[in-house]
Amino acid sequence: MNILVWIETKDQQIVKSTLSALSAANQFTGDHPITAALINATNIEDCSNYGANKILSLQVPAFQNSPEQVSYVLSQIAEPYDTILMVATALGRDVAPRLAAQYNAALIVDVTSLKNEDSKIMVTHPVFAGKAIQTLSTTASKRVISIRPKAFILQPNQKNAEVETITIDLPTLKTKVLETRYVATERPLLSEADIVVSGGRGLKSAEHFKLIEDLADTLHAAVGASRAVVDAGWRPHEEQVGQTGKTVSPSLYFAIAISGAVQHLAGMTNSKTIVAINSDPQAPIFKVADYGIIGDAFEIVPKLIEELKK
Ligand SMILES: Cc1cc2nc3c(=O)[nH]c(=O)nc-3n(C[C@H](O)[C@H](O)[C@H](O)COP(=O)(O)OP(=O)(O)OC[C@H]3O[C@@H](n4cnc5c(N)ncnc54)[C@H](O)[C@@H]3O)c2cc1C
Repeated sequence: MNILVWIETKDQQIVKSTLSALSAANQFTGDHPITAALINATNIEDCSNYGANKILSLQVPAFQNSPEQVSYVLSQIAEPYDTILMVATALGRDVAPRLAAQYNAALIVDVTSLKNEDSKIMVTHPVFAGKAIQTLSTTASKRVISIRPKAFILQPNQKNAEVETITIDLPTLKTKVLETRYVATERPLLSEADIVVSGGRGLKSAEHFKLIEDLADTLHAAVGASRAVVDAGWRPHEEQVGQTGKTVSPSLYFAIAISGAVQHLAGMTNSKTIVAINSDPQAPIFKVADYGIIGDAFEIVPKLIEELKK
């Protein structure tokens, strides 16, 4: 097996959560070599710290981090590898099928476990909005696999990686990035946060989300929301958690005044510990919660903040 792991970069820095693809690769490849590829990164040594045997430092002038550009760049170096691994971030979800199509390779997405059994790759991934776990195997000679963000724990694994620098010039492609606007926030990114505090329609108005923000800030957490809240215009879509929003797997997830519809659960049941606060003891969210508090969020959350600040 000859495995290539694409590590994402943003502003010339590694997107740390995508290093977990190296941890996933190390878990199932045994002694097989692992090559990490990154585009225009200045901190490439991190790949060595997390288990890459070789690093391809790709220098790409005029790079704009668009899916089409990333796919083009990877297609210039991925030919010799039978397995191409990446994290299913927003960008990864776009790049993986492009590469698979390019190589006529097997495509397996959003994987939560990986095994190598008798030269067959066995993977699991959630389907039907997380209601079932599917096990798949592939004997394809080439495969592109994306792993679910945070499904694999980032594990330091010091190796003395050889570094090769390759310059790749971009041709004229079909799409061009005209502008990228970053949302200004001091909070951690929702998809990468270790703690997420999410609020639902039970909060009754946009103004009451201040409660969620206060708890999030007390815990240095990201703010999430149910779709009902986003549809009502109380919160921006980038905060939506669920089937049609973001998938999160933090260590700690607060679902406050969220009923726990299956579409919401699809985005957060991989969280390590789930705390639900809901006034309805029959709310489905309690079925997935590790800790449940039955009661009025307007009474409970301020008390929680007070205790946490002590
Ligand atoms: C195709 C499709 C895709 C979807 N994608 C998503 C998705 O990505 N993400 C998502 O979240 N939803 C999604 N939905 C919508 C989903 O079905 C639910 O409608 C939505 O999740 C409900 O949001 P909610 O829990 O905030 O609101 P509600 O279902 O209205 O629940 C509000 C909860 O607040 C509780 N509550 C009320 N007052 C208080 C109080 N004072 N204190 C404590 N608790 C209180 C209530 O008991 C209730 O359980 C999707 C639906 C469809 C059809």
